[in-house]
Amino acid sequence: MSEKGYKKLTLDIASPNPPKARILLIYTGGTIGMGASESGKLVPYDFKKMLKHIHEINTYDLQITFISLTQPIDSSDIDPIHWNHIIEIISNYEGDHDGIVILHGTDTMAYTASALSYALNGLNKPVVFTGAQLPITVPRTDARENLLTSLEIASAKNEQGEPIVPEVSIFFNHSLVRGNRAQKMESVKFNAFRSANYPLLAESGVSIRYNFPVIMPYSKDKIDIRIPKWYKGIAVLPIFPGITQEAVLAVLDNPSIKGVVLETYGSGNAQTVDWFTSCIKRAVQNEVLIINVSQCVGGEVTQGMYATSAHLEDAGVVSGSDITVEAAITKLMFVLGSEKSYKNAIRRMLTPICGELS
Ligand code: ASP
Repeated sequence: MSEKGYKKLTLDIASPNPPKARILLIYTGGTIGMGASESGKLVPYDFKKMLKHIHEINTYDLQITFISLTQPIDSSDIDPIHWNHIIEIISNYEGDHDGIVILHGTDTMAYTASALSYALNGLNKPVVFTGAQLPITVPRTDARENLLTSLEIASAKNEQGEPIVPEVSIFFNHSLVRGNRAQKMESVKFNAFRSANYPLLAESGVSIRYNFPVIMPYSKDKIDIRIPKWYKGIAVLPIFPGITQEAVLAVLDNPSIKGVVLETYGSGNAQTVDWFTSCIKRAVQNEVLIINVSQCVGGEVTQGMYATSAHLEDAGVVSGSDITVEAAITKLMFVLGSEKSYKNAIRRMLTPICGELS
């Protein structure tokens, strides 16, 4: 484990009473911890500066360990390397903690939450991502509510002492959504995330109302965390009326690309013109794994429902069902990073890992 990617701050808050829970709080950057630079642009603060603004944490009956990426980032700069730093931190510290809260920029939070949901599948502990639309230094910030409620969710246990939400989730603006079902939908209002194809896991108001039937069940069998290899030869190809053969070939006929998210219309439809079908067929013969994900926000891909998707099915395109683009991209990276057999990779793409598709 390299100590280069993150630093633990000696700021453990031990509550005077036996703590209700022990929480690992990981800071990666994002608007929540940003302040204006000399040029007036928002840049991530260092963690100590940020912490000054969340002294309410001291009043919680929790023991909190703070860990920060060495270099907090705007999440637009996130890369699988950072995912692995976060996974390493969790792997090294989760044993002494009941739940984990990750502070992350909203721009790519849905990608990181999806990626970590695969890598941490079987951890059986709450991993709650949160952030804010306004920095914590701003009086009207949404950071406080998002952070404090995330801490409550990460520490919530049932009467048997088991975690109530033992999965990777995102809490934002009163809503808790499954991490690999989330998409950022809003950059101005506070309701930044939606989960069009899966119900909310919880809603917060005067109390936190958990939607128990849709939350992953807790299991006593816990897996050891492994640091994944993320395959980066992935592309997204959104089709549109008038797309040219050159544009399609630039993606599908590119030897460095082995996984493609094909963004189609409606229930998974695409143009049937001969050159398009031939490009798809040739790519599949070259073992490019193409997954069909709809450009529609809600609903699902049903290949073969229309003639305009039957040619994709016949060519060997894999249905993405109701998966999000974010969850599909990160799943391709995860699966192709460890799977050498094309057939097995297809089978794994069609099989849910942790609730990312129905
Ligand atoms: N650009 C910021 C980020 O994703 C936006 C945010 O945090 O809301 O890091």
